[in-house]
Amino acid sequence: MHVPLLDLKAQYQAIKDEIHAALDKLLESQQFILGPNVEELEAKIAAYSGCRFGVGVSSGTDALLISLMALDIGPGDQVVTTPYSFFATAGAIARLGATPVFVDIDPVTYNIDPEKLAQVLAHLRRQGDWRVKAILPVHLFGQCADMQPIMTLAQDYGLKVIEDAAQAIGAEYPWRQSDGSIIVKRAGSMGDTGCFSFFPSKNLGGLGDGGMVVTNDPELYEKLKILRVHGSQPKYYHKIIGGNFRLDAIQAAALLVKLTYLNGWTAGRQANARRYNELLSEPGIGTPKAVYPHGDDPIPHYHIYNQYVIRVERRDEIRAGLTEAGIGTEIYYPVPLHRQECFAYLGDQDKDFPEADRAAATTLALPIYPELPAEALEYVAQAVIEAVTER
Ligand SMILES: *Cc1c(COP(=O)(O)O)cnc(C)c1O
Repeated sequence: MHVPLLDLKAQYQAIKDEIHAALDKLLESQQFILGPNVEELEAKIAAYSGCRFGVGVSSGTDALLISLMALDIGPGDQVVTTPYSFFATAGAIARLGATPVFVDIDPVTYNIDPEKLAQVLAHLRRQGDWRVKAILPVHLFGQCADMQPIMTLAQDYGLKVIEDAAQAIGAEYPWRQSDGSIIVKRAGSMGDTGCFSFFPSKNLGGLGDGGMVVTNDPELYEKLKILRVHGSQPKYYHKIIGGNFRLDAIQAAALLVKLTYLNGWTAGRQANARRYNELLSEPGIGTPKAVYPHGDDPIPHYHIYNQYVIRVERRDEIRAGLTEAGIGTEIYYPVPLHRQECFAYLGDQDKDFPEADRAAATTLALPIYPELPAEALEYVAQAVIEAVTER
């Protein structure tokens, strides 16, 4: 049996007519730059993530970049983030001349560890020459980082927070209010800005590149919109330097169709995760944990499973076995950010980020896409068990 890691053709077949109709309409209008489709998507994604405002941008990477620019982060500044993420997280910081400061991850969620974050901030403060401006947590694989302690630290130290929610649209976090009651907050709504990616392999994927910044801050919202068009306000007058960070109207038109299916797709991913968890509860296989409890639901809906990532020893061997069995897998990510060649100048190579290193050596993503047939999922689970038990 052949089981790809992701099958976008299956999704497309199901919604093809609607996509075509939306694109036809856009083509007839010949309005390709910003306009009503982008504005409608901005309003809908903002509402979907529990925010007041959305700004459609050219990619998830640019959502991070423009957020940092809007918060005036630049040369000499430090931004604290995770060493275990897609490159763009740290790349955006470094491109502005700021310095990424890495803090190791929690081994269960793979997200930045708030206790280690507290230690690093306290250490940097004690050293003097305080240059930290912001924290950039990532909601990796579709589960929120532990945002409450992160936001408390941000408040204590006067830091901005940019959420990298590229993999986490619709993921939720149980936020404890001062009276002890819990409210649910969505990824992207807790920091100063939240950054989404519409890269085709994300849960809400476009027909190419795209992204969005969400925020609750009206001033940031205005600044983001100006930065998106070269800092122009009014047209051809520039008080600040921005770039061309616009989301294409053609992407917005397609994404508006796809957004109506997102909840169903997420539910499909969660159902697949539930089934995998049952089938893979074997010694030697670490299944992903949804850590935020939600009533009696054994798989809380807080995790949106952009990736279903297991942890195994002999990972590369097991992956080879699965490849041989026709199963698509991926390693997210084989080289942690502190070990990337381009960041050698940071001098972090020899620093200790044991959990990021261990994750890079032992994690493996399995097919989890919503259209994955039940037989294919069972085939994958069986193949994983065989590969893990056979020596
Ligand atoms: C995909 C992704 C990005 C970048 O998004 P693009 O749209 O590909 O630029 C940033 N951070 C994380 C964690 C991602 O997964």
